[in-house]
Amino acid sequence: KVVVVSATSQTTNHLEAVADCIRMNQKEDALAAYKKIVERHSSICEELSGDSLLLGFIDELDFEGSRIIEDAIQSESGVSAMLMDQLYSLGERFSSSLFSFALQSALGKNDCAKYFDAREFLKTDSSFGKALPKIDELNEKVNLILSPFFEENRDEIRLVAVTQGFIGSDNQGRTTTLGREGSDFSAALLASSLNAESLTIWSDVEGVLTTDPRVYPDAKTIPELSYKDATKIAKLGAKVLFPETLAPVQKKNIPVY
Ligand code: ASP
Ligand code: MG
Repeated sequence: KVVVVSATSQTTNHLEAVADCIRMNQKEDALAAYKKIVERHSSICEELSGDSLLLGFIDELDFEGSRIIEDAIQSESGVSAMLMDQLYSLGERFSSSLFSFALQSALGKNDCAKYFDAREFLKTDSSFGKALPKIDELNEKVNLILSPFFEENRDEIRLVAVTQGFIGSDNQGRTTTLGREGSDFSAALLASSLNAESLTIWSDVEGVLTTDPRVYPDAKTIPELSYKDATKIAKLGAKVLFPETLAPVQKKNIPVY
């Protein structure tokens, strides 16, 4: 199993608010807004019993985010799309480190969960903010990085690789993102690359609904959809699926739940 984690609720929006403060040259507000994000994740970490390794990891992200803010305030170019992607990436890196730790502590001793940085294998072009994945390079990296993890640990009962959705890197190693709400696209790309049996997307709604449940609470879940219809609905604005998500799994006929 590979678990692809998105940022915790609202974190990506909060990172955008940090960027807004930088744009307005409000350094202290930017740092304070970022601190709030860090504190929220530290308190989740404490709830998970405050492992020191995990706390150390959160400290590193705290340091990295604060440095990005300081540098951006000083630089002439302000919040470039490239810088925004570095900021965005912190959200998924916080959540996935918490998630992999929670999983490691929940699994028995014959099981194994490991954290992977998606930027090592999700290779993209350099269109920051809406990067296009490079499928051949992704497949190559998945074979080099993820496949050995599964091969070398065959004896474990359950093996879970935990990584981030939404983020990747270009050929210079610079952080990129696939576009807002792009985590399920990352999951589909990995499912396809690994020839997965299936792809399961967990969201805050139960599947694809007949209409927006915030507008019409009686909206019903559509039990089954073709790739084509689901893609059409996504492109017409249904928020549940990122429009590009199904293309990689459709090619290999991988079912999506
Ligand atoms: N965290 C990112 C966003 O909010 C990606 C995602 O949620 O799919 O856009
Ligand atoms: Mg999300």
